[in-house]
Amino acid sequence: MDSMGEAGLRLLSLTQGLIPEKPIACKHATDPTAWELEQAGRKHRWPKIRKINKDCFNAIFEKVEAFELRLIEVLDLPSLDELRADAIGEPVPGYDDRVFVYNKAAQRGYDAAVLDLEEDILGTRELEQKQAVVPAAVLMQYMFLSFTVGISETVNLLKAHKLPDMTDDEIDAMRLLVQQDNVYFRAAYDVGASRIRAEIQSSWREGFHQTLLDMAKGKKSVLQAGRAMRKQVGEGKMWYWNRIARSESTLMINSAFDLQSRAAEVNFEEWSIAAGACEICDQFEGRVWKLGEGPQPVTHTHPHCMCIRIPLWETDKDVRDKWDRETPYDAPYSKDDRDGGLI
Ligand SMILES: [Zn+2]
Ligand SMILES: [Zn+2]
Repeated sequence: MDSMGEAGLRLLSLTQGLIPEKPIACKHATDPTAWELEQAGRKHRWPKIRKINKDCFNAIFEKVEAFELRLIEVLDLPSLDELRADAIGEPVPGYDDRVFVYNKAAQRGYDAAVLDLEEDILGTRELEQKQAVVPAAVLMQYMFLSFTVGISETVNLLKAHKLPDMTDDEIDAMRLLVQQDNVYFRAAYDVGASRIRAEIQSSWREGFHQTLLDMAKGKKSVLQAGRAMRKQVGEGKMWYWNRIARSESTLMINSAFDLQSRAAEVNFEEWSIAAGACEICDQFEGRVWKLGEGPQPVTHTHPHCMCIRIPLWETDKDVRDKWDRETPYDAPYSKDDRDGGLI
């Protein structure tokens, strides 16, 4: 993707609805938006995770499209076809004089639509009611799949790195059986869901609501309101959901790894970078920590990180000190960190 340059990436991302409007969430340095797009183009080494990430993105895309259609009705905006045509620069006549109105009924309609979007993707009410039934929420379904793949791939890694006196059958006997009401899965899921809920609160419930108030006050046209919708909360925000689909999946694999490795009484963890890894992840490659003491993919790197850890009972390598640096989300990595001074 390097040869494409930023303009090429932006064009590609436009067609995929993936344009980041601001530097990546972890704010580690002022990266060009192309950085995230490049990271977002990499694929996971495990085909099952690759498929989960893609399917999860597509499933969220369907919900976002339904959300746009609903807003078009509630806010009385031009049709989706017209807004899509407008997005690629085609003329959409007939809307210049139609002033956008955001009355109480429209505000209530917007609120209700956001609430349903949140429920469809995150399953907020479902979680509050602590239902142990098979969840309907898109993200919960796919994160559970990532969690189960994390368990089975950790078992595969345990077999690949087993001690000479161990058999595969013994390792299979250590495999954890995981269900959707598993407390560890739910706890890990809750952490991710609450982060996304906070984003929905600030960007959807407050940010875009304010935009709509401003647009009505400024007597903007319905076409302008439609453009803003697509950019802030619609298809133009799919880069955010792509980040979520991929990063949360890695976090699920992290949780599964921790759980399964502890159950197998493993002693160490070794970092294994993904193909095309960045200058941060690169520094962790092949490093070993005591189990549970090392940095974790995404948590200590960045969104879209596809690195994994390998569970080891024994190692010849130096065992590093416990990783206790703040996460880059709280304390961004400096240029020195990125240039090889992280570890
Ligand atoms: Zn990286
Ligand atoms: Zn990584």
